[in-house]
Amino acid sequence: MSAETKTTCPYCGVGCGVIASIDDHGKVSVKGDPDHPSNYGRLCSKGSALAETIDLDGRLLYPEVGGERASWDDALDLVANHFSETVAAHGPDSVAFYVSGQLLTEDYYLANKLMKGFIGSANIDTNSRLCMSSSVAGHRRAFGSDTVPGTYEDIELADLVILTGSNLAWCHPVLYQRLAAAKAERPGMKVVVIDPRRTVTSDIADLHLAIRPDGDVALFTGLLARLAQSSAIDQNFIATHTEGFSDVFAEASALSFSDLLDKTGLPAMQLREFFRLFETTEKVVTCYSQGVNQSSSGTDKVNAILNCHLATGRIGRPGMGPFSLTGQPNAMGGREVGGLANMLAAHMAIENADDRDRVQRFWKSPVIAERPGLKAVDMFRAVADGRVKALWIMATNPVVSMPDADTVEAAIKACPFVVVSDVLRQTDTTRHADVLLPSIGWAEKDGTVTNSERRISRQRSFLPSPGEAKPDWWQMAEVGRRMGFTEAFSFRSPAGIFAEHAALSSFENNGSRDFDIGACAQIAAEDYETLSPFQWPQAAGAAAQTTRFFAKGGFFHADGKARFVAVKMPVSDRTSAEFPFTLNTGRIRDQWHTMTRTGKSARLSSHIAEPFAEIHPRDAIEIGVSDASLIKIESPQGKVIVRALVTERQARGSLFVPMHWNDSFAAKARIDTVVAPVTDPFSGQPASKNVAVAARPF
Ligand code: SF4
Repeated sequence: MSAETKTTCPYCGVGCGVIASIDDHGKVSVKGDPDHPSNYGRLCSKGSALAETIDLDGRLLYPEVGGERASWDDALDLVANHFSETVAAHGPDSVAFYVSGQLLTEDYYLANKLMKGFIGSANIDTNSRLCMSSSVAGHRRAFGSDTVPGTYEDIELADLVILTGSNLAWCHPVLYQRLAAAKAERPGMKVVVIDPRRTVTSDIADLHLAIRPDGDVALFTGLLARLAQSSAIDQNFIATHTEGFSDVFAEASALSFSDLLDKTGLPAMQLREFFRLFETTEKVVTCYSQGVNQSSSGTDKVNAILNCHLATGRIGRPGMGPFSLTGQPNAMGGREVGGLANMLAAHMAIENADDRDRVQRFWKSPVIAERPGLKAVDMFRAVADGRVKALWIMATNPVVSMPDADTVEAAIKACPFVVVSDVLRQTDTTRHADVLLPSIGWAEKDGTVTNSERRISRQRSFLPSPGEAKPDWWQMAEVGRRMGFTEAFSFRSPAGIFAEHAALSSFENNGSRDFDIGACAQIAAEDYETLSPFQWPQAAGAAAQTTRFFAKGGFFHADGKARFVAVKMPVSDRTSAEFPFTLNTGRIRDQWHTMTRTGKSARLSSHIAEPFAEIHPRDAIEIGVSDASLIKIESPQGKVIVRALVTERQARGSLFVPMHWNDSFAAKARIDTVVAPVTDPFSGQPASKNVAVAARPF
C-alpha cells in the first residue's frame, strides 16, 4: 500500500500536477497527475526526478543568529525589533523584502500585506522581476490589466504557433510535448521559431528565424505594417474594441523594408514567408518567454506582439492569441497578490488612489504604500548605497541570479541587517545573513500556485517538516504580530490566508478588475484541502471547460478598449572593439535556477555535467579555442571561465552560457557576475540576453 498525495511541480510555469506516493518503507516516488488539466499525466525530466531531490542533505533545520543556533522566539523577536526600529529611525523605505516566484501564493500574500499595508513601503520586489515583468508592463499598457488572454489548449488548436524568445523544449517541456503531439496529429500545423540560436525547439520548426538579438520589435512592427495593408486586419474589432491604431500603424509604416532587413538580420525570403504565414492563418498563437522579456526593450517587444494580435482580432478565441509563458511555478500567483514593487494587490494599481484606499480599508491597515517601491536592480543599488538598511530575502539566491552579481553580493555583505529564509543552510546568499530562518520545502509545504494559463492548483505536503523548519507564511505572520499588527496577522493556516486573498479579489469589484476569485472567500479548511485545479475567471469547482479573455473586447482600461502602443526601435548591437561578442544566458533542460535542488539528482546532472559556453566554429578558430578547452568570458562587471562547446547552433559573434552554475560547482561559472545591470525602462527587467563581452582562451 502506498499513500498518494496530489500536488504540483515546483519548477517551471507550466504548473504540472504531480502525484507523490510513499511506500511502506518510506520511499517516495512521483508520477504525473492524469487528471490535472495542464499536463494530463505528463512530466518532464525535472518533474520526474523530484523524489531524488528531497533528502535532508544540506538543509537548514534550525534558526541561526550570527552563525549560532537560536530559538525561533529569539530570532523572530530580533527580526521584528530590528525592522520596527529601522522604520522608526529612518522611515519605511529604509527596509526591503526581496522574495521569489518560488513562494506559494499564501506566503507571497502575507509578505506583500506586511510591507505595503503595515510597514507602509512598496519596497517588496521579487526574482519574478527577472522573469516576466516586461509581460506585466506590456499587458497593462495594452489591456489595462495584467491579463493572460489564452489557455494551453490554444497552442494545440492553433494552425500557426509562433515561439519567440522561447526554448520551449527545454524550458517548458510539457507544453512542448503538447505542441509536438498536436503537430504530429495535424501535420498541417505550422511552427515558427524566432531565436538567434538554433535550439532543440527549433528542430520542430517549419521556419526558424535566426533573428538578431533584440530584433523582435522591428520584426513585429514590420508585421503590423504588412497586416494593416492586407485583408487579415479586423476593422470591426479595431473600431469597436481598441484605441490608437492609426497612429501606431503610421509609425509602423515608416519602417522601410531595408531597415527591417538590417534590424532583424533576416533574409528577405524568410521575412516574407513569416509575414505570409501570419497574414493567411486565422488561428495563430504567439508564445513568448525570456528572449522577449529579458531585454532593454522587453516591454516594447511585448506590445509589438500584442499590436499584431489586436489588429487581427486574434485574441481570446480558441487557437488564437498572444501567450506569455512564465518561467517560475508561481510568478502568476505573485502577480495576483501584488508581489511586485509597482503593483498593489489583487491586480489593483498602486498609482491609483481609489485602489490604495480600497486595499487599505479591506486590510484595516494603519498605512498604505503611496508610490511604487524599488524594483530588483534598484533595490540592490539602494542596499549598496545605504538607503536600505534592513533586508529580508526569501526563497531566492540573488548572489547567483542577479545581474552584476559581485556588486549585489558586496551590497548584501555590507547591509547592516540581512535576514534570509531558505531551505538550505549554505548558499551564496545565506552566508551573508545575520539571521537565518529555516523554511520548509516542496514536499512539506501547503498552499496554492497559479500557472501560466491562470490555473490555480494546490501544493500539498506529504512529508513532515524537518527539524524546526517552518512555512514562509508563518514566519511573516509571526514577525507581523511581533511588530504589533496582531489581528491582521493572526493566521493559523494557509487556508485562512487564501480565503482573505480571495475576498480581497472580489472586494468592491464590479467587473472592473480581471482577477476575481471571490467564490473562494468563504472556503472551509476541508474544501481548501480538496480544492481541485481551477482556472480563473472560472470559479473553483466549475465544469472543466477552459476560459479566455477579450474575444469580445471587455478590456480593463476605463473605456473598455485596448490600446495599440507605439514602440521604439532598440539599440540591438551593444558590442565594441573591446567587447565584440554578444552573450546570451538561459536555462538548460535538466537544471533549475541555481541548482540547489536539481543539482542533487545524479540523473539530472548526467544530461549536462558542467557549465559551458556555446560558440560558433569560426569564432572559435578566430579566438583560438577548441571544443572542450577553457574559455574566459569577460565584461566590465566580471568574468567566468567555462568549457567551450563549439557548435553551429550558435550564431556568429554570439555566445550562450547557462545561468545555473555558481562558484561552488566549478572554479568560476557564475555568469550573472558578467551580466551588466541594464534594464527595460518600463518594467525594470534586466537584459540578460544581449550583453557585450570579450572571449579568449584561458
Ligand atoms: Fe515541472 Fe515544468 Fe517539467 Fe511540468 S514542465 S514537470 S511544471 S518542470
